[in-house]
Amino acid sequence: MKKLDNLRFADTGASLYDLATSYIVSCPQCHSRAVITTDLAPSTFRLRCTSCFHVETPAHWYGAATAFVSVKCRECYHPLRRSASWKGTWKKLAMKCDKCGDQCEYDAHITYHSLHQGRMTDPVFGLDLWLQREFRGELFWAYNYEHLALLRQFVEAKLRERGISPRNTIKKNSSMISRLPVFIKKASHRADLLKMISQMQQA
Ligand SMILES: [Zn+2]
Ligand SMILES: [Zn+2]
Repeated sequence: MKKLDNLRFADTGASLYDLATSYIVSCPQCHSRAVITTDLAPSTFRLRCTSCFHVETPAHWYGAATAFVSVKCRECYHPLRRSASWKGTWKKLAMKCDKCGDQCEYDAHITYHSLHQGRMTDPVFGLDLWLQREFRGELFWAYNYEHLALLRQFVEAKLRERGISPRNTIKKNSSMISRLPVFIKKASHRADLLKMISQMQQA
């Protein structure tokens, strides 16, 4: 018989940001499990792979991104707009003016995407998260094992309660648990989700 503790879930109000202190990802060199942590300064992330010993600091974005430029042509002042998928390190986009034909590279605004080819990525390097599986056409993912354990507790709980004062609505709506997609909250998915989470916890 399960202990009562397992039947209750109290949302502490931890936001996804609170949980995003480390990320388990696929190593860009050997595709084994690598860890991104902030062990030096709070804002300095570092990737370490225990298989190939690759170490990397944030510089290159491996994930999906879009470059966007909206300027006036440097020659004829005709408005130019272009957005294109972006890869690499130069934050510039090649533009051709359709009025005067001038060609030039302009500084682009880069939008970094959390999904890359249908897979969830970390927000520092854009690498595939290690802890992700498809569940009935939806993506189930966790940044790290603590995040996964919290999701497990939530799915396991038969009784769910909010540990936050009802007046504290801002905190309440920003909690990771309150923002979970519907498929994770469905009681009919509970058994299959738990089976999958158990496999993920071994991975
Ligand atoms: Zn590696
Ligand atoms: Zn022009």
